[in-house]
Amino acid sequence: MNISKHYTKEVLKDLLLDTFKSDMLIEPEHASDEVYYEALCRVTREILSEKYKIFNAHNNARAEKKVYYLCMEFLMGRSLKNSLYNLGIQDAMTAALEELEVDIEKMYALEPDAGLGNGGLGRLAACYLDAMATENLPAMGYSILYEYGIFKQRIIDGWQTETPDYWLPGGSVWLKKKPDRTVPIKFGGRIEEGWEGGHHWVNHVDYQTVYAVPHDMYVTGFQSEGIAVLRLWKAQSPGFDMEAFNRGDYVNSMGAASASEAISKVLYPNDNHAEGKMLRLKQQYFLTAASISDIVRRHLSLYGTLDNFGEKNAIQINDTHPALAIPELMRVLLDDCGYEWERAWDIVVRTFAYTNHTVMAEALEKWNEDIFRNLLPRIYQIVQEIDRRFCAELRDVYHYDPYDIDRMRVVYDFQVRMANLAVIASHSVNGVSKLHSQILRDSVFRDYYHLTPYKFKNVTNGIASRRWLYQSNPGLTKLLCDTIGDSWLTDMSHLKRFDKFSTDKAVLERLAAVKRENKERLSKYVLETSGVALDPDSVFDVQVKRLHEYKRQHLNALHILNEYFWLKDHPNAPFLPKTYIFGAKAAPGYFLAKQIIKFICTLRDVIEADPAVRGKLRIVFLENYSVTISELLMPASEISEQISLAGTEASGTGNMKLMLNGAITLGTLDGANVEIGERVGKDNILIFGMTAERAADLKAAGYNPAEYYNRDQRLRRAIDLLASGLAGQQFPTIANSLRYDDPYMVLADFDAYCGIQQEASRLYQDTTRWQEMSLHNIAASGYFCADRAIEEYAHDIWSL
Ligand SMILES: *Cc1c(COP(=O)(O)O)cnc(C)c1O
Repeated sequence: MNISKHYTKEVLKDLLLDTFKSDMLIEPEHASDEVYYEALCRVTREILSEKYKIFNAHNNARAEKKVYYLCMEFLMGRSLKNSLYNLGIQDAMTAALEELEVDIEKMYALEPDAGLGNGGLGRLAACYLDAMATENLPAMGYSILYEYGIFKQRIIDGWQTETPDYWLPGGSVWLKKKPDRTVPIKFGGRIEEGWEGGHHWVNHVDYQTVYAVPHDMYVTGFQSEGIAVLRLWKAQSPGFDMEAFNRGDYVNSMGAASASEAISKVLYPNDNHAEGKMLRLKQQYFLTAASISDIVRRHLSLYGTLDNFGEKNAIQINDTHPALAIPELMRVLLDDCGYEWERAWDIVVRTFAYTNHTVMAEALEKWNEDIFRNLLPRIYQIVQEIDRRFCAELRDVYHYDPYDIDRMRVVYDFQVRMANLAVIASHSVNGVSKLHSQILRDSVFRDYYHLTPYKFKNVTNGIASRRWLYQSNPGLTKLLCDTIGDSWLTDMSHLKRFDKFSTDKAVLERLAAVKRENKERLSKYVLETSGVALDPDSVFDVQVKRLHEYKRQHLNALHILNEYFWLKDHPNAPFLPKTYIFGAKAAPGYFLAKQIIKFICTLRDVIEADPAVRGKLRIVFLENYSVTISELLMPASEISEQISLAGTEASGTGNMKLMLNGAITLGTLDGANVEIGERVGKDNILIFGMTAERAADLKAAGYNPAEYYNRDQRLRRAIDLLASGLAGQQFPTIANSLRYDDPYMVLADFDAYCGIQQEASRLYQDTTRWQEMSLHNIAASGYFCADRAIEEYAHDIWSL
C-alpha cells in the first residue's frame, strides 16, 4: 500500500475528527493546542501501528532472519515530524490541520525530546532504527523505558544545574503498552544444584522478582514498507514481596515496590565513563534478561526449537552495556532448554556481534566480582565457566603462557571484564571508524586479534541524514532538488552529483543565501531564549557535544582567551568577527567538566562587558544541547570543531551532521574526521595537531606539559590567568590539570590549533572559496548516512 497516496488531506482530517470524538472527549473547536497535539500523535501512531502489522506478518511468513539491536540508550529526540516526513504525509497533514486552523509547527514544538540517551552512542542507536526501517530489515531495538531521560541543563551564573527530565506527559503518546508480553526477572537469591541421572540440575531460590513490562515505539522507514519497533522495558514491582509477607514482615513487604521500580526510574547521565554502581548493573541485567526472554519466545513461536536460533537471529550489542545478554542466553539454553554447554556456546557465538565504542580505560566496564555474584548468582556461575573454558583452551590448545592468559580472561583480580566477555562470545567485533578499528586491533584487543583475526571488522558510523537535512534544512533541500533532483533522499551517495556545481557562481550564491537564512533563524532563537542578538555576518564556529576533557572544549576556550588578549593588544588590527557557539552537558559528578563550562561562561561575560572587543568576538553557550537543538543548529553552522586528542574519539557523528549541512571540519586526525578528510580532500578540511600515532609515542616517551607551558608565552599568560582569576573567578583545577598532568595533551596541540584557526579565518574571507569548500563537503557527505552503515552491518555482520 502506498501510504502517502492513501492518506490524503481529507482522510487525515476525518481521522483527526474521529479521534476527537472517540478519545479526546472534547469538541475540536474547544480543544487546546495540547489536546490537538495528542490527537495528532494518536492518529500518526495508529498509521504506524497498522503499517507495522503488515510488515511484520510479511517477515514472519517468509521466515526472515531478525535483527535485534540492544542498547542501554536510544536518544530518539522528537517523533512527530520524523514520522510524517518518513510516511510522506507531511504536506497532507499540514493541510488537514490548516483546515482545522492549527499550525503544524506549533504542534511540533509541543513534543518533548525522548532523551533516553547521553550523546553519540544513544543517538547512533536511534539513527540505526531509522535506517533499518528504511532498508526494510526485520529489526527491533531493545532498551529501558526510563521515566527520567537525560537531565535538563540550565546554566545559572555560569554553572551547570540539572533538573529532572520528566518526559512522559508529552512523550507517552508514542508508546503502546504490551502487558501480555510482561517478563519476570530474577535478582539475588542462591543457586542449588546437583546431579541426577547423569544430568546437572540447578535451582535458583530465594530471589526477588521484578516484572519487565514492554512499551513499544514505532520508527517508520523513509519511502519504504519497513517499520522498526523500539521495545522499552518498564520495571514493575510484583505488588509486594510475597516471601517477606509470608514471613510476617508486612511493612517491608510493601516497601519492596519502590526499590524494584527504581530500576527504570532514571538514565545514568555518564558519557564514556563507567560508574560501577549496583543499580546500573541491575538495569543492565533487567534490559538483557527481558530482551532475551522476548527474543526466545518469539523464535519458539515461529520455529518450535532453538536449534536454528543462531541462523534466524542476529543480536548486536551496542558497547558492553548489554553484554549480559551473552550469559543470559547461555542460561536459557542450558537451564531452561537442556542444551549441552558446547551446543549452547555455538548458538551464542553465532548470534552475538559486539560494537566497541571506546578505547579509554575509564569507560571500559569492569564489575566488582562480589556485587556481580550477589546480584546475579547464576549468571556469575556461567561467566566463571566461560572464563574457565577459555583459559583452558588458551593453555592446552594454543599453549599461551599464564601471563598472557591473565590479560585475556574474563574474571580476574576480583573483576568481571565485560569487554573481554563480549569479544570471546561474539562472532564479530567492530569499531566505528577506520582509525578506531585499527586501534582496537593494534592495542586494546591485540591479543584477541592474534587469536581470532577473522572476528575483527569496521563499520564507520552513519547518521539519519534525512533528519538533519530534509527535515531540518528546507533551504538546502530545495537547492539540492533544483540542481540534482531528489533521488539523494533515498540514496545519499547521489549527493556526489552536487560536486559539479562547485564552479557555478549562481549555485554558490544560493548556497551562501541558504546559510545566511539559517544563521538568522538560529539568531532569532538565541535572541528569544537568552536575549543576546548575534551578528549573522560573523562566522559561526560551533563545538557541540558532551563536555569531556578528551573532546577538549578547553583547548577551544584557551584559544578564544588568546584571541581576546590579542584584540586587546591590537585594538585597530583587522579581525574577522567570530561567534563561538558551545553546547555541552557535563556528567553531574564530573567536577572538572563543570569547571570548564564555568570557564567558558566567564570568558563569555568578560568579552560581552568589554566594548573594545564585543562586536568582534562573542561566545554563546546554548543551554540543554539536545537532538532538537542540534536540528536547529547544524544548518546554521560554518565551522565544525572536532578537536579531540587523536586516538580518543572513536568516530564522532556530530562531525557528520555538520558536514552534511555544509560546515567545514576544523579538527584532528581522529575518528571519522580521517574519513571525512579522505572524502572531501585535504583542501576542503582544516586538519591540525598530532596524529594518533604521534600522541601515543609522546605519551610513551613521557609527556611533560610544563615544557609547552614554559616555552609558549601565550599558554603561560592564559593558564596563569585561569589560576589567578578571570573576572574574579579562579580556575585552579583546570590550570593545575593542564600544567602538571594534561592527560589529553591540550598544550601539545595548542600552537597547531592557533595556526589552523588563523587559516580558517583567512579562507573564510574568500567568500567564493569558502562556499566551494562547503559545497564539496555537502557533496561528499552521502557516505556518512546511516543507510550505508546499516547495509554494511547487514552484509558483513548479520549475513542478511
Ligand atoms: C550527534 C549528537 C551527539 C554526538 O556528538 P559528537 O560530536 O559526535 O560527540 C551528541 N548529542 C546529541 C544531542 C547529538 O545529536
